[in-house]
Amino acid sequence: MKRRHFATSMLVGMGAAWGLGATGLAAAQGAAAVPAQAGAAANAASASAAAGAAAALQVVATFSILGDLVRQVGGERLQLDVLIGPDSDAHVFQPRPSHARQVREARLLFSNGLGFEGWIPRLLQSAAFRGQHVVVSRGIAALRSAGHGHAHGGHGHGHSHGEHDPHAWQNVAHARVYVRNIADALCAADAAGCDFYRQRAQAYDDVLAQLDAEIRAAWAPIAPAQRKVIVSHDAFAYYGQAYGVRFLSARGVSSDSEPTARGIVRLVQQIRQEQVRALFVENVTDPRLIEQIARETGLRPAGRLYSDALSAPGGAAPTYVDMLRHNTQALTRAILGA
Ligand SMILES: [Zn+2]
Repeated sequence: MKRRHFATSMLVGMGAAWGLGATGLAAAQGAAAVPAQAGAAANAASASAAAGAAAALQVVATFSILGDLVRQVGGERLQLDVLIGPDSDAHVFQPRPSHARQVREARLLFSNGLGFEGWIPRLLQSAAFRGQHVVVSRGIAALRSAGHGHAHGGHGHGHSHGEHDPHAWQNVAHARVYVRNIADALCAADAAGCDFYRQRAQAYDDVLAQLDAEIRAAWAPIAPAQRKVIVSHDAFAYYGQAYGVRFLSARGVSSDSEPTARGIVRLVQQIRQEQVRALFVENVTDPRLIEQIARETGLRPAGRLYSDALSAPGGAAPTYVDMLRHNTQALTRAILGA
């Protein structure tokens, strides 16, 4: 790991003479403090980096959104596996033996926490995980789960979503806390890379601060009373709280709980009374519920929001920043009727 870092950070501006042997590696450890040795150190480093990525820090992130945040901080120093890929629903995820193998070999496992990954304890046990489990939502003020009562309706699929709403990443301020927690954990596990992680975390934090300002600017022209949206599961309470938008949902906080007929009737009445204008499907949920509500209210679905998973590369939301940008644009356009 150390060698890879020197290779990427110190090669700039140096005439690379490749092929120094293992004796150069000792110099690499102290190179930062001894400029005269830096050239030799970098050469040794690049030689060993070229030999393979085996020295990278092995880490696992539970789902695609978190995977992107970890990658933003850890970059090429990490060998990152993501358990739940793009467009896949973490609420109904069932770990397979291949996931247990990825977890077994990891030094760090990053999870969201707040009950999002109810399957974690069993997976860590079956994988005999010996690394560090890092819950990235630590330190945020969690919202109570809106679907609290609903989630206790007897859906016995082995999911325990707990009393908190897990979708904290939908508030950019919380993603910034995630990033700090990720950088702290990477520094603790890989001290030689700490400067690298801190620099990347800081640069990415600047991007997130700008994203947050951009979202607020996009909502600014819309009167608070008009900021009402129908979605298929309660994934946007944090976004709603941060940016002043009301999200209504017939479903509970988890996408695996079925809406009741009475819940749908109530929602349709509410849509009419409050003159809600925007209706959305999500990338991780069955669109039939939203289509039914669309038929009964005459509202047309205004597009797709990304709630619990990124899109595949080349899609509308392949990164966290793209996701927030896409959602904000889709929401504000639907409300403005653009
Ligand atoms: Zn969800």
